[in-house]
Amino acid sequence: DFAKSKTIKEQREYLPVYSVRDELLTVIRDNKIVIIVGETGSGKTTQLTQYLHEDGYSKEGLIGCTQPRRVAAVSVAKRVAEEMGVELSSKVGYSIRFEDCTSKETIIKYMTDGVLLRESLIDSELNQYSAIVMDEAHERSLNTDVLFGILKKVAQKRRDIKLIITSATMNAERFADFFGNVPIFTIPGRTFPVQQYFSKTIQEDYVDAAVKQALTIHLQNGPGDILIFMTGQEDIEATCYLIAERLQKLEGVTPMLVLPIYSQLPSDVQAKIFEASEFRKCVVATNIAETSLTLDGVKFVIDTGLCKLKVYNPKIGMDALQITPISQANANQRSGRAGRTGPGICYRLYTDTCYRTELLENNIPEIQRTNLSNVVLLLKSLNVDNLLEFDFMDPPPQETILNSMYQLWILGALDNTGNLTELGRKMVEFPLDPPLSKMLIMSDQFGCSQEILTIVSMLSVPSIFFRPKGREQESDAAREKFFVVESDHLTLLHVYDQWKMHNYDQEWATKHFVHGKALKKVREVRSQLLDIMKQLKMEMNSVGTDWDQVRKAICSGYFHNAAKIKGIGEYVNLRTGIPCVLHPSSAIYGLGFTPDYVVYHELVMTTKEYMQCVTAVDPHWLAEMGPMFFSVKEAYGQNSNVLKRDIEKKGLREMEKE
Ligand code: ADP
Ligand code: MG
Repeated sequence: DFAKSKTIKEQREYLPVYSVRDELLTVIRDNKIVIIVGETGSGKTTQLTQYLHEDGYSKEGLIGCTQPRRVAAVSVAKRVAEEMGVELSSKVGYSIRFEDCTSKETIIKYMTDGVLLRESLIDSELNQYSAIVMDEAHERSLNTDVLFGILKKVAQKRRDIKLIITSATMNAERFADFFGNVPIFTIPGRTFPVQQYFSKTIQEDYVDAAVKQALTIHLQNGPGDILIFMTGQEDIEATCYLIAERLQKLEGVTPMLVLPIYSQLPSDVQAKIFEASEFRKCVVATNIAETSLTLDGVKFVIDTGLCKLKVYNPKIGMDALQITPISQANANQRSGRAGRTGPGICYRLYTDTCYRTELLENNIPEIQRTNLSNVVLLLKSLNVDNLLEFDFMDPPPQETILNSMYQLWILGALDNTGNLTELGRKMVEFPLDPPLSKMLIMSDQFGCSQEILTIVSMLSVPSIFFRPKGREQESDAAREKFFVVESDHLTLLHVYDQWKMHNYDQEWATKHFVHGKALKKVREVRSQLLDIMKQLKMEMNSVGTDWDQVRKAICSGYFHNAAKIKGIGEYVNLRTGIPCVLHPSSAIYGLGFTPDYVVYHELVMTTKEYMQCVTAVDPHWLAEMGPMFFSVKEAYGQNSNVLKRDIEKKGLREMEKE
């Protein structure tokens, strides 16, 4: 095995980028901005920062490298620290949202593009950096696209900065044009042919199809690792489980190491995909393995042709995670993963016709398909007044910008003239989506900032509960013990409070089918958000068990996601009139309580539009907080009149007349 037998120095010198190291450094010396193109695995991400360091740029300032994905930022920083023989967070570090692993010593810093974007809020010229590598530009993530515009300006203002944009073999000319006819440097490739097989018929169940294909490969082929491209965490876990289960039933078969990789996986488990193994490895991944992480030794690729994307749905005016067909460009990247170290085979679980007629040639940049509230908020605070004139490489649809501005206006972050309000300015301080930062900022007025802080932190760390295969009933029962009848948000609060009562004990968590590591993360996030709240001089208060106040605060951030009951478990969105249902995992659903009005955290679209993380609310709150969607008259029609007095006091009747 190459990685085992060769020294780190030999491994570095074997990479394609090494053969052009000196030319590359010359081009960078002679140009402020350079586009670098190279196949996945050529050494762009791990080597460029080191070359820049070796060429002296670290004497002038930090060398930064942005990644669209958190997992990649962490994993690559670890690798580079290892190559340089230093501790992570010393000379080499990383910074991702809620996790800063850098120090004063740091000279090479990997980070998500979102982190660099937020840094530009504090120092718009990014003066601490002498060089910035914008990696994986071809991914066209939302933050990368915004950074393009910002960094182009930085480069115009600063004489002493180097800007390097790297891309897998796509779109390089467009980048070069955008930055003003800058040079494109191509790293010579070293790839092997990959044979393509398409499915003859349309596959009904892609998980099952992938499992069967993986087993067939394992039984019929000689050595070579397998890489399966799946959609997301749930499908990945199911795939791993099914492969392991079926392998076990086949007696006398050589073992195979089945490994998942997705962004929410704890990093020590993630690292396993890079470890050498005496048996065949089968890595089941999201599109993270398309270009972000390079796995050596993959000979077989199984491509479901799908990925999970955040898609802005204009019908409902918000983002939803959706399983979506990939583009032809993605498909080609995926199959290329089989030909890095030798000839390979790619099994596409879709038909040839589907590839040619149904897949788009290139993927649509995220900026053109997601909600832009956060971007609008950020640009507004960078004093970009007219968003329609910002220097976007591919401008987002005007309608999306206006929709996002509307959402921010509803939340009170923008005033009637489209300028940031004081609330909006505060919201920018939090690395959170606008509804979450709004509810956090409002919370002290409801006397429950401690409670909301916990809830927001819990929502920032997915998958608190675990539900191991074969122990579903047991884990569901454990989860139900935490249920608070009227709210999933309060259920989350309840879990955290219980954990705290048990002295943040990891064993307690495991016993109750709660991810101990995730809770630990929640605690860290919580303390970071607490720092920001203190800086903003917010009052830290608690309502004890008066949870109505907590629900009111939740409502203040989510009244635009409100729904009214229509049938058992069935609701209709108050703003859009679109039907939606309670998610089966909801505490409300589980306890058979069906409140008339609810607000929800997000919609997940599968066969139906599921509301995820739901809280029962009083219609009067909705009338008070979101009079644009919900009339006071309608609220008065309800029996509950808890807030009637308040509404009258505030003169909201007037509003209703308008
Ligand atoms: P590129 O960015 O051009 O796709 P990389 O710099 O990511 O290339 O990868 C170069 C080499 O470093 C690859 O052979 C890859 O397998 C190896 N590598 C990257 N990260 C790790 C890691 N965490 N552990 C072991 N090897 C790694
Ligand atoms: Mg890379």
